[in-house]
Amino acid sequence: MWWGMLLVAAVLTVLCDRASAERVKVRIFSNVAVSQINISFDLGSYTLLGDDGVVIDTMLATGRSVAVQASGNKMLLSVDGHNLDAYSTLQFIASDSAAILCLNPRNASQRTYEGNLSFRSRSGRLEMVSDVDFETYLAGVVQSEIYGGESDIYRVQAIISRTWAMRNMKKHAADGYNFCDHVHCQAYHNRCIRPEIMLGTVASSGETIVDHDGNLIETPFHANSGGQTANSEDVWRAAVPYLRSVVDTFSNGMKQSEWTKTMKADKWLGYFSKTHHIDINDKALRDSLLSFQQERRRATLLGVKLAKVRSDLGLRSAYFSVEYNEARGEVTLHGRGYGHGVGLSQEGTIRMVRLGIAYDSIIRHYYHGAMIHNANTIQDIVKMEAMTQQISTIIEEDKVAATQTKSKKEDWLGRLFRLRDREDREEVYDEKKQDLESDWRYAW
Ligand SMILES: [Zn+2]
Repeated sequence: MWWGMLLVAAVLTVLCDRASAERVKVRIFSNVAVSQINISFDLGSYTLLGDDGVVIDTMLATGRSVAVQASGNKMLLSVDGHNLDAYSTLQFIASDSAAILCLNPRNASQRTYEGNLSFRSRSGRLEMVSDVDFETYLAGVVQSEIYGGESDIYRVQAIISRTWAMRNMKKHAADGYNFCDHVHCQAYHNRCIRPEIMLGTVASSGETIVDHDGNLIETPFHANSGGQTANSEDVWRAAVPYLRSVVDTFSNGMKQSEWTKTMKADKWLGYFSKTHHIDINDKALRDSLLSFQQERRRATLLGVKLAKVRSDLGLRSAYFSVEYNEARGEVTLHGRGYGHGVGLSQEGTIRMVRLGIAYDSIIRHYYHGAMIHNANTIQDIVKMEAMTQQISTIIEEDKVAATQTKSKKEDWLGRLFRLRDREDREEVYDEKKQDLESDWRYAW
């Protein structure tokens, strides 16, 4: 009975979170001070609204351009080269989910995004917030956070990123949006432009990682564990039951598996002397520092947390052994892995997928005792399967015509969104189905 109640409560919690997660607001260019930007329109059309929702333009599409320049807390607006008023707020509203904006800031690289976009100016700096479909945002995050090729690699990352996002939905509530686009939250540096990434994200829809009580877990990840992951308390403070050190040979032999760093022995010893007050004239202590070995991951060296040594000295990982070259007065640190080592190893994941290991086994390998929760309804699953089928077809067709250049309207994402929009419209406006079919042929 109790268990039943708990389970119902857990499922409801997940479903409520899910309902609120259909769209998210993400601050973009959050770590770049942008004061001037040009906006063009790659696909679909946009309506531009000014202060109090006053309509400025309703037909912003390919071939047209908008420039926004911050001026104190106002913005100077120019459309197609004509200067208009100064505004306090500007909003670009997309005509449908296939619409794509192209943003060209004066001092940063070009990016493209789907969804609506709002502008404010704070002391001469533009604050841009993208209002986007949650799953579309996730696909962009996955593209920014992991490399690979197989869609299951992206599926694992999507489940981790979705779990994190649903757990941290209020992270920037005080700022008026959900997330920033930097590693403080999750990297979101462009719209997803690769179909395999969208395939992995869509295939994972509804899936999150929960503990035995049904609560969403913390999902830390890192580039490479070096062959063994770390316990959470060895890096941070709390011992978390599902963030246990596990042997992870899958991370060996990958891009970030090993590193070395050579420095003067005086610098190495001096660090422990100055920062941690270790008596380096004591021969036993000195020898410990100069001959430190980690066959298996250790948490400390002479009582000093290795995670602290890593951050103080800017090392790639805390999993290293020390080799002393007396003749040269140098130490060489032979390190393994890249990152804090807690939770999931991305390169271990890539290797496991390539070895044919299932995505849920990979997640259970790195998050000890955790489970995948699937919040999908039957209807969701049917929709999701239809969509993965469509994306798989697009990927196959792209392979056949690999050298063929495509217009933006033939871009896979445009195709996919148009397919999806058509289905949505058909559901809502069944009587007009015939008209829509002819519109459809016209559009294609
Ligand atoms: Zn943030």
